[in-house]
Amino acid sequence: LGETIGENLRRTVERVGDHEALVVRHQDYRATYREFWEQTGLAARGLLARGVRKGDRVGIWSPNRYEWVVIQYATARIGAILVNINPAYKTAELEYALNQSGTSFLILARAFRTTDYVAMLNEVRDRCPELRQTLVLDDEWEGLLADGAGVPEATLAEIEASLQFDEPINIQYTSGTTGFPKGATLSHHNILNNGFFIGEGLRYTENDRVCIPVPFYHCFGMVLGNLACTTHGACIVVPGEAYDPVAVLEMVQAERCTSLYGVPTMFIGELEHPRFSEFDLSTLRTGIMAGSPCPVEVMKRVQSQMHMTEVAICYGMTETSPVSTQTAIDDPLEKRVGSVGKVHPHIEVKIIDPATGEIVPRGTPGELCTRGYSVMLGYWNNEEATRQAIDAARWMHTGDLATMDDEGYVNIVGRIKDMIIRGGENIYPREVEEFLYTHPAVADVQVIGVPDERYGEEVMAWVKLREGAQVTGEELAAYCRGRIATYKIPRYWKFTDTFPMTVTGKIQKFRMREMAIEELGLHGAAA
Ligand code: ATP
Ligand code: MG
Repeated sequence: LGETIGENLRRTVERVGDHEALVVRHQDYRATYREFWEQTGLAARGLLARGVRKGDRVGIWSPNRYEWVVIQYATARIGAILVNINPAYKTAELEYALNQSGTSFLILARAFRTTDYVAMLNEVRDRCPELRQTLVLDDEWEGLLADGAGVPEATLAEIEASLQFDEPINIQYTSGTTGFPKGATLSHHNILNNGFFIGEGLRYTENDRVCIPVPFYHCFGMVLGNLACTTHGACIVVPGEAYDPVAVLEMVQAERCTSLYGVPTMFIGELEHPRFSEFDLSTLRTGIMAGSPCPVEVMKRVQSQMHMTEVAICYGMTETSPVSTQTAIDDPLEKRVGSVGKVHPHIEVKIIDPATGEIVPRGTPGELCTRGYSVMLGYWNNEEATRQAIDAARWMHTGDLATMDDEGYVNIVGRIKDMIIRGGENIYPREVEEFLYTHPAVADVQVIGVPDERYGEEVMAWVKLREGAQVTGEELAAYCRGRIATYKIPRYWKFTDTFPMTVTGKIQKFRMREMAIEELGLHGAAA
């Protein structure tokens, strides 16, 4: 699509203006596409009235609410750069994001759960010289819209007509799964097209209603969710401010959702919930599981127990708008559960030996690189990191290990950083996790490498058991013996109900490693 996000939204409104665009349960909010268009226009004019101009950074620090989505489109309509700020951030991270992006206008919720955002902002405000204005959603939203009413519609139309689709409109910080978040700078073209092709892959129409429990601040919510919907006239359905499995199940039933999103841990949370069977999920047809490795066993249960026979797996990263590969709804079953699909239209992938840069033979693991319209403009204000990630030929080096089969299906083997090297043998945690999921007592499992004086690294598994199940580490090790290679069998077992994770539900293995080293009293070379 060679157009801006505003132009695309207007076309959707012309086509399906009377269809619902956005439903937000905890705010009792519903809007048709026409109403949504009007609100984004009013908010855009409100931002203009407050002095926001094209290229200015407008931060948003809020959990999922309808204003978030309105602001997403309002900023795009005036060419301001939306800075997505993680709702879980505390003062130091907030200060970093505001200053790193040069945010001049911050829109924030008054609070999220027990965290008082306004108090936190006041703590750092003096140290953010570029921050000139703030707007607290709970108190000042109506005022913004009222100011907007004072700006002529023609002023907005003139600005909209002057925008180019390859201009930056968004800074998204990466999840921080492996360390410090980096700000990926994205254009209309990047995220609009990615959202469009995601929706194409799921065959979205204006009759689809998509339940989005993943946060908007992350590309999973903002692009796979909002943009895939608005490019197709589908309805965005928001079950709550924070993830709650029961709210998701209730919302799917009440709103007759056809599609449901989540990272694997969310789907596990829903399937394992004691009230799961109370809900009628029969309207579900499709959905997306993404963000981290999608275990085969979980995919199978989502298809059979949640009616999501056309569920897709997506693979991507913030830096690539985000999706690079996706399973098709008519792929053969074994590909739809056991791979991340094939490369999206208009994107190239190659798999290389990270040491030599040479393309590896089919089936051999190597670093996945992607190229095409979806690659970010760069990391905001960080040329050094951009140069390390994107090479001179515009290939994005993902840091992920993958294989590709003869038919072009891609399999993610793991992150280069998470690979365990034990006594010279490469162990991909993913493979051990997939095997352990086949044990009936195991609900969730994560495998990491911990330092070991003898082998360099040893394998450790963190296991969450199913309700009422009981099993010991020795029993699980015995289950592994003879079924997976001896060197891959975890030496350490930890039973837990929680894993350290990002607010999107992505498990932070570097934290698990730190915690394990401390608990086990391990020393030696860190991984
Ligand atoms: P950071 O870069 O800050 O450490 P992050 O890489 O988790 O965080 P994101 O951009 O949100 O930040 O996530 C992209 C990463 O998520 C990919 O590089 C990949 O490792 C992982 N990922 C995404 N989808 C899948 C998938 N379907 N299967 C396996 N891994 C996936
Ligand atoms: Mg990353």
